[in-house]
Amino acid sequence: MEKEGFGSGASRLVCGNMSAHRRLEKRLASFKGTEECLVFSTGYMANVGIISSLFGRGDLILSDRLNHASIIDGILLSGAAFKRYPHKDMAALERLLEESSAYQKKVIITDTVFSMDGDIAPLDRIAELAKQHHAMVMVDEAHGFGVLGTHGKGAVEQFGLQNDIDIQMGTLSKAAGAFGAYCCGSRDLIEYLVNKARSVIYTTGMPPAMAAAAEAAVDIIKEEPQRRESVKRLSDRVRSELKESGFNTGESQTPIIPVIVGDSAQAVEFSTRLLERGIFVQAIRPPTVPQNTARLRITVMATHRQEDLDSLLNCMREVGEELKIINNQDTRKQ
Ligand SMILES: *Cc1c(COP(=O)(O)O)cnc(C)c1O
Repeated sequence: MEKEGFGSGASRLVCGNMSAHRRLEKRLASFKGTEECLVFSTGYMANVGIISSLFGRGDLILSDRLNHASIIDGILLSGAAFKRYPHKDMAALERLLEESSAYQKKVIITDTVFSMDGDIAPLDRIAELAKQHHAMVMVDEAHGFGVLGTHGKGAVEQFGLQNDIDIQMGTLSKAAGAFGAYCCGSRDLIEYLVNKARSVIYTTGMPPAMAAAAEAAVDIIKEEPQRRESVKRLSDRVRSELKESGFNTGESQTPIIPVIVGDSAQAVEFSTRLLERGIFVQAIRPPTVPQNTARLRITVMATHRQEDLDSLLNCMREVGEELKIINNQDTRKQ
């Protein structure tokens, strides 16, 4: 803030381009191991800008049914043909690719970590199918960046696919604790986006102070792996104890742990009763999630203590029994 002010004052293409922006982009490109990077003011704007500028009439976009709303909005704005495949259904994706010869460009777009389920997309199979059918791959690492992979680069690192994913988008607003988003990829891709993505061109640049904060966050991700290890250890514990108590945590493999209740009113009642006990777990209802899959969405943090989790798990069991979501079990811990 002292060096470059808080606001950037204008679009980066006019006079709002500060050195903090370029430093952040260089840091992200080198961290992710790509040629270049472009920073957007939010993840929503990144998805809308990237998808609508790269794809259009004559192209085909294949999208997982549970992808984030900002991806859907980008697709609708693009005017490209749009087909959704059932969540993580690789056989369905393959069938759609087999029928895709009439289109010009083809792209598969997927969240890497699904934000309401905490499960991970089968990126290895997606990359393989894309190669076979000459399609591009775009991933949204909003919940993977800073959390997954040995160095915290995301799910792409975890799968070892750095060289197989064309467009790596992610946000700086979740694990990085800042604001904004990035697109990492080839120099050509980034140069194209700078010239075409309307959500970069026609909006004020990210505040330089925010870019500096995000840059500091990248260093923390790099230098403090214990945070990643902690959140993994704590969330593995919560997930396995919830399952043991009879809760349905879906296919979660990450610190996002849904407890699927089904009925919306019951999910809200569950959340209210937890809050009365001093625990805030948001209830998520349709249309954010499919009909009859209302849920509590637990998000474990690296800074939670074991006592916090003891208290969460005890209250979950208590309320779960009160609402008859789980049975009173002998295995129940006191
Ligand atoms: C949060 C999120 C976004 C949007 O990012 P913002 O920076 O909040 O606009 C995009 N995609 C996914 C998967 C998200 O979870």
